[in-house]
Amino acid sequence: MSNAATNEYRNYIDGEWCASASGAVFENRNPADTTDLVGTFQASTAEDAERAVAAASNAFEEWKRTPISQRAKILNAAADYLEANVDRFADELTREEGKLLSASKGEVRRSAQTLRFYAVEGQTLCGETFPQDDGKMIVYTQREPLGVATVITPWNFPISIPARKIAPALITGNTVVFKPSSEAPMIACRLAEAFDHAGIPKGVFNFITGGSGKIGAPITEPPVVRAISFTGSTAAGEHIHRSVPLTTRTQMELGGKNPLIVMEDADLDKAVTLTVNGGFSLTGQACTGTSRVLVMKGVKEQYLEKLAARVEQLSVGNGLKEGIDLGPLASEKQLENVLGYIAVGKQEARLVCGGERLTGGDFDKGYYVQPTVFTDVTRDMRIAREEIFGPVIAVMEVDSYEQAIAIANDVPYGLSASLVTNDFRYIQRFPLDIEAGTVKVNRTTTGNLVNAPFGGVKKSSTSTFRESGRAGLDFFTQTKTVYLGT
Ligand code: NAD
Repeated sequence: MSNAATNEYRNYIDGEWCASASGAVFENRNPADTTDLVGTFQASTAEDAERAVAAASNAFEEWKRTPISQRAKILNAAADYLEANVDRFADELTREEGKLLSASKGEVRRSAQTLRFYAVEGQTLCGETFPQDDGKMIVYTQREPLGVATVITPWNFPISIPARKIAPALITGNTVVFKPSSEAPMIACRLAEAFDHAGIPKGVFNFITGGSGKIGAPITEPPVVRAISFTGSTAAGEHIHRSVPLTTRTQMELGGKNPLIVMEDADLDKAVTLTVNGGFSLTGQACTGTSRVLVMKGVKEQYLEKLAARVEQLSVGNGLKEGIDLGPLASEKQLENVLGYIAVGKQEARLVCGGERLTGGDFDKGYYVQPTVFTDVTRDMRIAREEIFGPVIAVMEVDSYEQAIAIANDVPYGLSASLVTNDFRYIQRFPLDIEAGTVKVNRTTTGNLVNAPFGGVKKSSTSTFRESGRAGLDFFTQTKTVYLGT
């Protein structure tokens, strides 16, 4: 909720829209045009964070006893609100994050779909009954909410990731403290507004913005916080995971270095489409984005030629405009990071296309880089091993399926991977051989269903619970075993 005159947006704590105790705000600017101020947001303090956690804690006992159909009604009403405002909210999302307007519309709609999915799926969660010898006793399990759940999210999917964490938390009877990324708090605020509009009881859902340096510990470390669902960098996720009490359940969705393997028999036009869509959509800033292509030696030159021709056709610009394929990077920090890796790539490997920041005219107002492809990349190079999180693809030559798998698995991450082939021998082996939480054949490494589980292996996730789909309900509930005798 905002003060229209100042374009200042507030925290939502204990059912009230409130300013931070600090009295300070921070700016959220458009990465496509930094002269455009999207809004100012509360630079919250530990005191604000403590109030949010206390409000969530106080609201828990009543919310967990609220009939599930009423909880579902609130999720559905929040979904209605998002859908009714999709055009306005998508425009704001593009202005704060840079993604294409069509992608923003898709993301707002998907978030509404997620709320509706959990409104139904949450009502099917049940326990088991157990056969046993005592005829005067019933033994069963029931699922219970955990308590206060803290949700911390990144800027790249700033409403769909929060939605897929908050909806399963709420429908199962947990109360929530939600902290979005400071790079994209606007659409997160609209999600808070949707819950407020839907009539969520005070304290059940709390929204707080600001730097993780001040509010990170107070929303993650108190023992009353019983669950933390986090998506972001491996470094931050690992830090939080290690610093919380033993009794706090964590679910960390982290970085990736996702491979696309192109076999000799692959339709190369299709392989190029999958590379471009997987590697450059969202300007390479999807956690499941394609960042390595392992291509068989026999078809490498042909594939590269087709890829370069396609990449050179891509148009970069403001995502609000028609006919744009790639928007800007989301922030100055992102720009510096990506340009840094491009410089490393130029030292280590051979540049095929791209490789420059775009300047001149409107480009000077934003954070634009060319979609970039490197080849002659080998497994020990930094651009082959480290997450770049930008529109940069490393093409690596391989001799065999076995070598492709060995290199694909030779990184600390394991989020998503894809194989391009029609050879059933490889199709069948691939899900078993590849170390990734999401495995695809003849599809982009990006994209996942609302109703299917999502998560990674190795350093891409904590090896605890999956999110999304029914798995999201498991994370936010615990099992109690009940023996009822007479
Ligand atoms: P980030 O780790 O910098 O920040 C993520 C969130 O964590 C932000 O809200 C940030 O303020 C908060 N945060 C950081 N340190 C914290 C701390 N100590 N305590 C509490 N909160 C803290 O990540 P980012 O730059 O926003 O996002 C990019 C990263 O997210 C990439 O590494 C990407 O791979 C990853 N990502 C993963 C997935 C997935 O599902 N696996 C999805 C999207 C993005």
